[in-house]
Amino acid sequence: MEQRNKILILNCGSSSVKYALFTKSEKQLTKGIISHVGEKGKTHHHAIQEILKQLLQKKYLHSYNEICAVGHRVVHGKDSTQSSIINKKILKKIKEASVLAPLHNPHNLEGISAIQKILPKIPNIAVFDTAFHTTIPEVAATYGIPQKVSKKYHIKRYGFHGISYQYICEERKKEQGKIPSRLIVCHLGNGSSITAIKNGKSVETSMGFTPMEGLLMGTRAGDIDVGAVFHIAKMQNECRSIDHLLNFESGLKGIAGTNDMRILWKKYFKNKNAKLAIDIYCHRLQKYIGAYTAILGGIDTIVFTAGIGENCPWIREKSCQGLEFLGIQLDKEKNWKNKAKISRGKVNVLVMKTNEEKMIAREVSRLV
Ligand code: ADP
Repeated sequence: MEQRNKILILNCGSSSVKYALFTKSEKQLTKGIISHVGEKGKTHHHAIQEILKQLLQKKYLHSYNEICAVGHRVVHGKDSTQSSIINKKILKKIKEASVLAPLHNPHNLEGISAIQKILPKIPNIAVFDTAFHTTIPEVAATYGIPQKVSKKYHIKRYGFHGISYQYICEERKKEQGKIPSRLIVCHLGNGSSITAIKNGKSVETSMGFTPMEGLLMGTRAGDIDVGAVFHIAKMQNECRSIDHLLNFESGLKGIAGTNDMRILWKKYFKNKNAKLAIDIYCHRLQKYIGAYTAILGGIDTIVFTAGIGENCPWIREKSCQGLEFLGIQLDKEKNWKNKAKISRGKVNVLVMKTNEEKMIAREVSRLV
């Protein structure tokens, strides 16, 4: 008889389902993506059926009975402080949070519902991107609007990318024996955010009520005066398209026509907009590093992670330039070689590979 020792990870987005298969001992067996979901009648249910079929065909699974649990990346968990086995109460919570994350939670729910139908006996675990940030103190999480309004509509800083931040913290603990007490982690992917972590707990993060706040991103504007948003609304005489403008047409792409950092860097010295996009990206990042150093009362370690953080030495160099007064001093050669430790000052500057799927698998293992 087969052993139930494999964990399936699902990350359901609007147009794709990303998946990974792990053993209970955290060994990744395979990962992949099914695209074009939502096109030509292809649903999340179809995509998940396709994933399971492929896992059998490629012999990563011999039977579905080998799967002991399914871990779901769920973007918004509202006030959930930890991962949970999905039952009626948790499902209700994820549904309630859909209004707060309309671009993500509804698709996460579709994935959960599909796998529950296909494999009804296997437990499902929700791992929330917001959970890591539930330690952020009220003073950092509260916006300056009437409390009546924020309470009624649940408006506060939730923060995102929490699964990645938790992974980085746990890896630091494994390698160093403890999480550095004043740690800043820059998760720089297509969506980018930065978090101040004190004694292992998130105390500030740049994304807020939605993932739109904070750093300049691939296609999101990040920080912008809401007055400017109202001005655009007034000039265009409508609001709906502004959400799209700020989420999908802004950021690096809005300034320089592409959100691919590799292309932008190739053009940096000959194209004014490519230079501007990269310079704004690094300026904003540096501003937050300074602010979060103040929040933490100093800094011991800074970690760069995700697509840009792991692979773009020019971003690390430019955002750290001028921060020598804080003890942040890069080793140029090591930085350009993408080494794990790239500093020679008193602050450790590290390049770390994040692994959100592995973190989800770890959470599933802990719960099942
Ligand atoms: P997502 O948020 O979609 O998971 P990623 O973490 O994959 O995003 O990061 C995407 C960004 O990372 C893009 O700007 C891409 O150009 C950049 N990137 C990814 N790999 C590399 C690489 N090898 N060299 C330079 N930039 C890279």
